[in-house]
Amino acid sequence: MSTLHGHVAAPGEANATRDAEGAGGGEAGTMSSGHVARRGEIDVSHSVILYLEEITVAFDGFKALDALSLSIDDGELRAIIGPNGAGKTTMMDVITGKTRPDKGSAFLGQTMDLTRMSEPQIARAGIGRKFQKPSVFEAASVLENLWLACAGERGWFSSLRQRLAPGQRERIDQAMETVGLAPERERLAGTLSHGQKQWLEIGMLLIQDPKLLLLDEPVAGLSDEETERTAQLLRALAGRHSLVVVEHDMHFVEQLQCKVTVLHQGSVLAEGDLASVQNDARVIEVYLGR
Ligand code: ADP
Ligand code: MG
Repeated sequence: MSTLHGHVAAPGEANATRDAEGAGGGEAGTMSSGHVARRGEIDVSHSVILYLEEITVAFDGFKALDALSLSIDDGELRAIIGPNGAGKTTMMDVITGKTRPDKGSAFLGQTMDLTRMSEPQIARAGIGRKFQKPSVFEAASVLENLWLACAGERGWFSSLRQRLAPGQRERIDQAMETVGLAPERERLAGTLSHGQKQWLEIGMLLIQDPKLLLLDEPVAGLSDEETERTAQLLRALAGRHSLVVVEHDMHFVEQLQCKVTVLHQGSVLAEGDLASVQNDARVIEVYLGR
């Protein structure tokens, strides 16, 4: 079977072309070890979805991450805070395969070694990432944006020309409902508020049904009301998804009502509920007290 974008791999088939196409929602990805990782096959038998151990990333000798260890439970919502340069974005780069660690291990569930998987393989295995700046198609409607988010599966061209595959319409409606944009379905994305664009992009990620969602500063530049709604949305997504949220806005972090990890100089300085880390003398010194 082929599309405008070339070959469509059968489930389980190793295919470099398919990898180069980017983060689709395909059903199978092949790890470099030869093991085939299927969606929904993440082994969370120990209740851990993400496990980073002693991760070190050095840029010209400077350690952006310095023996960072972190574990996220299946279905957990976790906030990561820390001063600029603490290594938060680098950590996400390691998890998504954009940056290879110099040392340490990174596992999705018990068995998937993220340090041996390509970025598209990691995306297909079930890790979605939202960058700080919303990247929606401004000239397309809310509905069309979500529609295009399904395109990873069949190629853009066929998605635009063909009817939606069974189940896709439901997934689109569900995502639109979840992020609260159903009333705006026909609106051009370019006319949405900044917050609505962020929600639309989260909706586009949800189409792929990621097991683990990484969000980098999702409320930067949002109004108080939008910030509150975003916190509600992320809390509602926890359970079905695991979420790691990097954020500076302490008011927002408070609304997330979740465990907080404080990063400093590339490793974990403190971890616990917000009140306990806010009262930690070391945290006050490096971050909150400034
Ligand atoms: P945060 O997201 O917590 O602000 P980053 O992960 O972006 O921190 O950066 C951590 C440190 O690593 C910073 O000092 C930054 O300048 C450095 N850094 C990040 N990426 C690179 C890179 N590609 N080359 C060199 N230094 C980098
Ligand atoms: Mg950053």
